[in-house]
Amino acid sequence: MKKKSLHYLQMHTNLESVMNELSPEILSTRSYPPSEAKIPYELFIETVEQAPIAISITDKKANILYANEAFYKVTGYQIADVLGKKESILSDKSTPREVYYDLWHTISNKKVWQGTLCNRHKLGHRYLADLTIAPMLDDVGIITHYIGMHRDITKTYESEKKVSNHKLLIESVINSSPMAMVVIDDQDQVILDNHMYKAMVSDLDKGEPAKYFLKLLRQELGASWQEIQNNQHGFNNHEYKIEGKGNRPVRWFSCAGNWFTETSVNADAFFENVSKQYLILTISDITRQRQQLQELRLQSLKNLMTEDERIRGLRETLLGAVHQIQMPMNQIKASENILRHKGEKQYEGVLQNLIQIQESGEVAINTMQKCIPEITQSPFTSVNLNQILHDVLLLSDQRLALTGIDVKWQPLTTLPTMLGSENRLRILFKQLIDNAIDAISTSSNKEQRIKISTDVDTDVIYVFIEDTGPGIPSDKRSKVFEPFYTTRPMGGNQAGMGLVIAKEIVNQHHGFIDIDPDYSVGCRVKISFPLHNSISRRLV
Ligand code: FAD
Repeated sequence: MKKKSLHYLQMHTNLESVMNELSPEILSTRSYPPSEAKIPYELFIETVEQAPIAISITDKKANILYANEAFYKVTGYQIADVLGKKESILSDKSTPREVYYDLWHTISNKKVWQGTLCNRHKLGHRYLADLTIAPMLDDVGIITHYIGMHRDITKTYESEKKVSNHKLLIESVINSSPMAMVVIDDQDQVILDNHMYKAMVSDLDKGEPAKYFLKLLRQELGASWQEIQNNQHGFNNHEYKIEGKGNRPVRWFSCAGNWFTETSVNADAFFENVSKQYLILTISDITRQRQQLQELRLQSLKNLMTEDERIRGLRETLLGAVHQIQMPMNQIKASENILRHKGEKQYEGVLQNLIQIQESGEVAINTMQKCIPEITQSPFTSVNLNQILHDVLLLSDQRLALTGIDVKWQPLTTLPTMLGSENRLRILFKQLIDNAIDAISTSSNKEQRIKISTDVDTDVIYVFIEDTGPGIPSDKRSKVFEPFYTTRPMGGNQAGMGLVIAKEIVNQHHGFIDIDPDYSVGCRVKISFPLHNSISRRLV
């Protein structure tokens, strides 16, 4: 024996006397050392004495007969203080009675009870006891003693509680987020998500949304995806459009992500530094913001085009007026020449009048010509005709909806860009679409449809605008591109200059505009532009 204090000897004697109460048969069934084993009996005693867990042995009524050294360390009670006392001395009296009922019900039925009780340390503070009580039976199976083993788990409980509180806090923060959030493991499996993400699963109709957006991100980022993953660089503002099916509108989402590494908690990884990488993906629905931006953009385009139309209207009116004045002026000039040629004195006065009229007419024409506003030329940039046509369709949306015309928009998915003036090209297509709407409105054809399509071959980009209006008779097809020619009654701003301007814009872009002679169910305008560069841009 290592410790020879009186106190220790007393305890030792207690343990020995308890052990001695148990018959040799019981001791052998409890795996106490058989005689052939080399482990001495005292070693068993020592083991219990020095075990780092509070051990107490009681009689059937929970009177303490023995307690080891660790019992003092855990409870604060000197062993002498508790000998002969009940185990309830340790109780804080805050443990619910049902727990004790369960404890006693279990052990008195010869089973092991394991649970947590709230104990009070001798110094007065509470601690949580992780307690196991085992009944000890004699050779006929009657309970003779109980052995209790407990340890203070207050600190472990505190840290476990802190972790679970922390987890709850994180979960409630994540759940209250207006963005869909999801944690994905390295096998692309969702391991944690929030309410918004769950709502998105049923809302989007794209299977697992996280997998869908991951695919788009990988496609977009290509080789740099692996790089940012390896370097654990975050990403944000990757915006994706989801086409609406049926009545569902188009939606826009913005993705952001961050990686984090978790050290494995598996027992296998205890001595190895095994870790796993996770991606926290945030998906925000930005459809509203996109719509607002689009509305703003359309409004500014509308303002631009209204201003352009105003200037164009003024130009057309003044050019028309100059054209109208020019005709009688030419007649006056012809009359003047005839009179001058005759040289007769009697017409001298008339001749002078004619000369004066002509001079003042020329002054008026000059003044009018000076008032004709110039159209400012916008610079040529790389433009995508699909985008421009799409804008024009949105600008004409209200008119198209009012007239109930069915629009078939068939853009070539990947249309190369060309050099051009966005503004001028917008005016061109707006003019042609307006013409198509006007033509259909005057037609008795039941089918009211405009089809707009784009195409490309080796070095030319094509735009086709078809309508189901009355069409343009073959003898008038070349005239419609002449100034002041119109198939409609003159008046207002319909001064027959629309197609002239359209042709002018096409010419500025080195293209061609024709009316398809083979199209018989209305009018089909074919516009072709040379391909200046071949930068492919996806359809927007
Ligand atoms: P008690 O009157 O002691 O018991 C409450 C209820 O338990 C009773 O209404 C009854 O249903 C049942 N009960 C009590 N004694 C018996 C019995 N002999 N047979 C059948 N049913 C009975 N409690 C702690 O709070 N902390 C401990 O660390 C602790 N360790 C223990 C270790 C051992 C080995 C044993 C056997 C018991 C231990 N107990 C411990 C339980 C303790 O004995 C008390 O039951 C408990 O503390 C409640 O005490 P009480 O005075 O409030 O009620």
